[in-house]
Amino acid sequence: MKNCLKIIVIVLFISCENNKKDTTTIVEVDQTTLAHHIERLASDEFLGRKPFTEGEVKTVNYLKDEFEKLGLLPGNDGSFFQEVPMVEIDGTPSETMIIAGKNESIALTRLQDFVATTNKVVPDVSLENSELVYAGYGIVAPEYGWNDYEGIDWKGKTAVVLINDPGFKSGDSTLFKGNEMTYYGRWTYKYEEAARQGAAGVLIIHDTEPASYGWNVIESSWSGAKLIIESDLPILNVESWISGESAQKMFDASAMKGQDYKTLASNKNFTPVPLDVNVSVAIKNKIKKDVSKNVVALLPGTDSKDEYIMYTAHWDHFGVGKPIDGDSIYNGAVDNASGTAGLLAIAEAFKKSNPTKRSIVFMALTGEEQGLLGSAYYAVNPIYNPKKTVANINIDALASPGKMKDLTITGYGQSEMDEYAKEAALKQNRYIIPDPEAEKGYFFRSDHFNFAKIGIPALYASGSYEGFDISIEAITKFKEDYGMYKYHQPSDEYHAETTELSGVQLDLQLFFKVGLKLSNEDYFPKWYNGSEFKGARK
Ligand SMILES: [Zn+2]
Repeated sequence: MKNCLKIIVIVLFISCENNKKDTTTIVEVDQTTLAHHIERLASDEFLGRKPFTEGEVKTVNYLKDEFEKLGLLPGNDGSFFQEVPMVEIDGTPSETMIIAGKNESIALTRLQDFVATTNKVVPDVSLENSELVYAGYGIVAPEYGWNDYEGIDWKGKTAVVLINDPGFKSGDSTLFKGNEMTYYGRWTYKYEEAARQGAAGVLIIHDTEPASYGWNVIESSWSGAKLIIESDLPILNVESWISGESAQKMFDASAMKGQDYKTLASNKNFTPVPLDVNVSVAIKNKIKKDVSKNVVALLPGTDSKDEYIMYTAHWDHFGVGKPIDGDSIYNGAVDNASGTAGLLAIAEAFKKSNPTKRSIVFMALTGEEQGLLGSAYYAVNPIYNPKKTVANINIDALASPGKMKDLTITGYGQSEMDEYAKEAALKQNRYIIPDPEAEKGYFFRSDHFNFAKIGIPALYASGSYEGFDISIEAITKFKEDYGMYKYHQPSDEYHAETTELSGVQLDLQLFFKVGLKLSNEDYFPKWYNGSEFKGARK
């Protein structure tokens, strides 16, 4: 009986082997394919790939054609496109924001003392004598037993909150994540949580150190037109920042006069404090609507077809703009023709490999440069069930002067994707390191973040610091050169003779291997305990 079983097993094994493609060769992400697509996408012909322009039409059609040539299927119900409606809101706030107390009233001046915006797609929004309530850091984090909003009916009220989270500069690495910024520290979170609580508005108190930028940045980035995605998520009437000085005046006129508001917020047992002052401000909006596209291609699995590994890269860049040294086309070769071409090169590698058990999705996203809009839209209008989406591997702006020994993981410590990356890195004789600048919150600044927010574990990494056979000095010089002379400038171009792609190829090869492993397993990588995204997976 035993022998009989053995024979059956051997026969099965042999017949399986026969169905496979050539198993002796190891599939590599092809550097020639990569170079070819970067060269095309970053050429002047694609006009800097800006949404709503001729450059968009050329880019999305090119990607569709290339995915089709590879034999991938349309990823969105028969189409290679997901339409992404966007709204341009050009808002003008009132000249003053009035903070009215029992005895005195303070008039804050637009831009000098406050900025105010809205995501409400209506011509007029306002706060009219909305009660101000101090909500500390404005954080609800069950994993830290933290709730700054507890015990108040927020309807119609406006929350006053601090930027960053209680861990920053606390000297306590167990309080949130110490100096490393958690998502609870980001201004986007402050707006989202206040809206979830049903508040009418939020005032974030600016503070240079915990914000990591001065008031001048608030002034320039919160005025003028902005693009947004409409969704059913709750939104505030008014989202606002006030300067630290204005905040002090407000507290002095309030029920909290004389109290140290920052120290109060750092207490775990903090409860919201009604300030006994009201705020009034109005915004007039000019509204324009337009539609851009995400490109979605599918490589169906053989077995667990309804489980997905999702590769993403944003296709968009800044288009044609202000000329620098006589060049007005912002080609975005590194940012992000590299990642977009990387999707095509990885897709090709999967096609050359044996079919995978799980399905693979390749998505080129729009509007990243305008605020992660294509991925934000996908997150609220997912094509594939997020609970069945095993992992996201996001590729953005790969560049290195050669093969790198390190794989620097942005968002290290968030999920078991670290382990997958580590295993793949070791096979390339590389090692993984956490992002040494984690306090800057880069994990929250590219598209994978929107997938993390809906619970999908994400990998965002690249070789950055130590080369196999390049000196540290050469690497530093390469990075400085990119940061100062190329990043978001017309000179981010591809040059066939000089652009070095061996390091980019090595990173893509690693992403391919991580996806390949996941695509043949049953396992779903988990968020680690303490990750702010763990709750969203449930
Ligand atoms: Zn980018």
